[in-house]
Amino acid sequence: MEPIFNYIDGNRNLFINRLIDYLRQPSISAHGVGMDKVADYLVNWLVRLGFDARLMPTPGWPLVLGHRSDQPGAPTVLLYGHYDVQPPDPLEDWISPPFEPTIRNGRLYARGVADNKGQHFAQILAVESLLAVNGQLPCNVILLLEGEEEMGSPHIASFVKHHGDLLKADLVITSDGPLPPNGQPKIDCGVRGVIGFELRAHGANRDLHSGNFGGVAPNPLWTLVHLLSTMKNEQGEVTIKGFYDNVQTPTELERTVLESLPMDEKAAIRDLGLTQFDAPLERGYYERLAFWPTLTINGLHGGYAGPESKTVLPHEAFAKCDIRLVEAQSVEEIFSKVEAHVRQHAPGVEFIRQGGMEPSKTPLDSPFVEPLKQALRIATGQEPLLFPAMGGSLPDYVFTKILGIPDFTVPYANADEANHAPNENLELDLFIRGIKAGVAMLTCLGQLPKK
Ligand SMILES: [Zn+2]
Repeated sequence: MEPIFNYIDGNRNLFINRLIDYLRQPSISAHGVGMDKVADYLVNWLVRLGFDARLMPTPGWPLVLGHRSDQPGAPTVLLYGHYDVQPPDPLEDWISPPFEPTIRNGRLYARGVADNKGQHFAQILAVESLLAVNGQLPCNVILLLEGEEEMGSPHIASFVKHHGDLLKADLVITSDGPLPPNGQPKIDCGVRGVIGFELRAHGANRDLHSGNFGGVAPNPLWTLVHLLSTMKNEQGEVTIKGFYDNVQTPTELERTVLESLPMDEKAAIRDLGLTQFDAPLERGYYERLAFWPTLTINGLHGGYAGPESKTVLPHEAFAKCDIRLVEAQSVEEIFSKVEAHVRQHAPGVEFIRQGGMEPSKTPLDSPFVEPLKQALRIATGQEPLLFPAMGGSLPDYVFTKILGIPDFTVPYANADEANHAPNENLELDLFIRGIKAGVAMLTCLGQLPKK
């Protein structure tokens, strides 16, 4: 791979300038800014690289889809990414404007530079570099770039269900998210799922005087506090009936892999300004993130919490919550269990479902794990970390559960990429390393025995 890595180093400035050109074009899905233009821009790139490429319409923003089949019988890799970006607000907190990419201290600053334009553009440049040096790709490649990831991917599941014939791949690789703080490469084999819901409690038809009506009129904030306290106990266990029914115990291999992950819990506790982690304390840090579901109160609102005091008896109260799901819980299963719990314990409280995303898991002993690890060793000179699942959520289930294809996330961005925040940035060395990692992954996968 040395000649290709040299080619990449020789074209460093050209590649960075191309990324800058891409980042100058806003593509804010939530506001509908620049989406069609950027989608066309990507199709043109792929056509120039010899891909059979096109826009695939959805009820929302289109997907960009491209195929290149250079090696019959060799594995087909589906590279997934998303070309939409988060809105850049608050604009006044940006040191340089979000759509005027600017280099400072070896980092490129722009909205979308890390999440996700810089990461999937690195894959595209990996393909370009392989073609420039070798004239062909070492395996078959499908590129799928979504335009609605930052809106929760509302249409990708139905797209995948209807177009399985265009997505026949042996594995999916997504380069998104941050590396660990020390920059060590990593492979995530799964994600937690998520559901969101709101609880609304109502009392009298107006706010009341807590002296004239306290003890007589019900208080919706107490209603929610009582309800929430029936949902999780002080030992950290969610007490909703059947909540843990489908949670899987980690396998022997998963335990070994978890135990091999470096983690300084004391330093993490210090960094967060805590004295200890939440219950249950006996579970390890990564075991909780990968294998244990959560119930989080995101916000509890009602009445008065401003300066001084106000002896009010509020007439309504709201709680927003999320649950992170693990394999093999499902969105529908957990929504209905929570809803049944609310009906039983507080029938007057409104339960409002918000979005949901299924969890996903690819087995750690998948035959693709070793070639991916080997590729990252070659591209970075470091030993990659293997994670059974990450704590956050991505729509990986559309590949693993709908299409039955193993899915791996291999992030390229620095840990402090500030995605979704002002001053989003990507270390240029990591961008270049990402291009090399893309080359190495396609090369090592191409060396697997042909079918
Ligand atoms: Zn994002």
